Amino acid sequence: MDELRARLAEVAALERTSALLAWDQEVCMPRQGSPGRAELRATIGRLAHERFVDDRIGELLDGAQPRDELEADLVRIARRDYDKARRVPADLVAEMTRVAAAAHTAWIQAHADSDFGAFAPHLERNVELRRRYSACFPEADHPYDPLLDDFEPGMTTADVRATFERLRDGLVALVARAPRVDGSLVHAAFPEDGQRRLTATVLRAVGAREEDGWRLDIAVHPFATALAPGDVRLTTRYEDTGIDSLFSSLHEFGHGLYEAQVDPALARTPLAGGASSAWHESQSRLWENMVGRSAGFWRWCHPHLQDALPDAFAGARWEDVHRAVNAVRPSLIRVSADEVTYGLHIVLRFELELALLEEEIEVADLPAAWNERMRDYLDVEVPDDAHGVLQDVHWAEGLFGYFPTYALGNVIGGQLWARVNADLPDVDERLAAGDFAALRAWLAENVHRHGRRLLPAELLECTVGGPLDPAALLTYLGDKLDASAALMP
Ligand code: ZN
Repeated sequence: MDELRARLAEVAALERTSALLAWDQEVCMPRQGSPGRAELRATIGRLAHERFVDDRIGELLDGAQPRDELEADLVRIARRDYDKARRVPADLVAEMTRVAAAAHTAWIQAHADSDFGAFAPHLERNVELRRRYSACFPEADHPYDPLLDDFEPGMTTADVRATFERLRDGLVALVARAPRVDGSLVHAAFPEDGQRRLTATVLRAVGAREEDGWRLDIAVHPFATALAPGDVRLTTRYEDTGIDSLFSSLHEFGHGLYEAQVDPALARTPLAGGASSAWHESQSRLWENMVGRSAGFWRWCHPHLQDALPDAFAGARWEDVHRAVNAVRPSLIRVSADEVTYGLHIVLRFELELALLEEEIEVADLPAAWNERMRDYLDVEVPDDAHGVLQDVHWAEGLFGYFPTYALGNVIGGQLWARVNADLPDVDERLAAGDFAALRAWLAENVHRHGRRLLPAELLECTVGGPLDPAALLTYLGDKLDASAALMP
């Protein structure tokens, strides 16, 4: 066990080093450093992989005699990761990386030109390589299962399909009955220094304090990373219009808090981190939406908003802001979608990924299939591929099986929020009083401390006492729409 733990700690250290290189690249690195940085990251990534799939780790896992429950979980999870990593030939991994890098470059130009035809051959290569990757796991029921499993260990395509059918039907019905709310109050032009002050005030209040090891920096694509206990780094960006900087900061805070509250006994093991992509997203979305768009939060935040952005909000009531940040409006772009329509953007992507993997549709048919679903689910006409099928970078990077985790995170977040409200019935009053500590403690106790010790489905069973179920999310969203409709002038 000691040798196994030492070797796994080495792999974990290389992975955190890789995360630090990525953080630095996004936050401080001069643009000219990018070829050199790609070299560094590839080297560290390769070393981490080689160290992990080493025969010796397999021998140590075979002979491991865990001395406590933590070590039993360590062996169980490491065994699972190890077996999966060993099944994929190194040259396939290298080819996927190489093809994805070329596809990424082609996507940037194709997106700028709104030219799907220029991107299609690259996407075909990515899809073909992902099929080959799946074929390394011939026991899978569905070719999509091994891809999904990389982000949601143990989850199957059948689970997601069943969940998403109910989610899709529920969301389509909610969009149809959503009141037409004018959200322009929060989409005006706001000075950057005011946005900065607002973000700083809110992050401090929710618990991201510099003296406790948190940082906030600027990045083009906001993200969060935790390098070690006591070193949690958030990023955000300030745009000329809207207060997305606030919501994106709360989102990244949710990711950071998850990592920060993992049991310190798991540090330097592969269990130090979130249970899965969807679990991570459940935490970010919970802070961004369930907290950040709640009535309680805005009762507390309103004077700070007025203080930071007096020109725009001096004459507004908290109720006006609360209603505006919850406006539902079907739109073209996923990343700027509201809380209700967001899930439909994801369901659409999942259905198309599945159809590609199942060879139900060809890459060339994607734009038409995309546009048709946008019409069916959101009643939106797609003007060009840049605002449609080309809008996201994920498929260019070869990421298949990742999109569903965004919506699964919302589904889990809905289930957690129902539990939070049962355990802390005065949570809205607490938020209104600027008291975020009870919620942080609830999340630490019920979710965060476990790190990766449990598989996603086990953690859900342990936390909410049941399987994945979109009902709680749909009820939460429906209640919000009803409250908003009742307040319509
Ligand atoms: Zn996120």
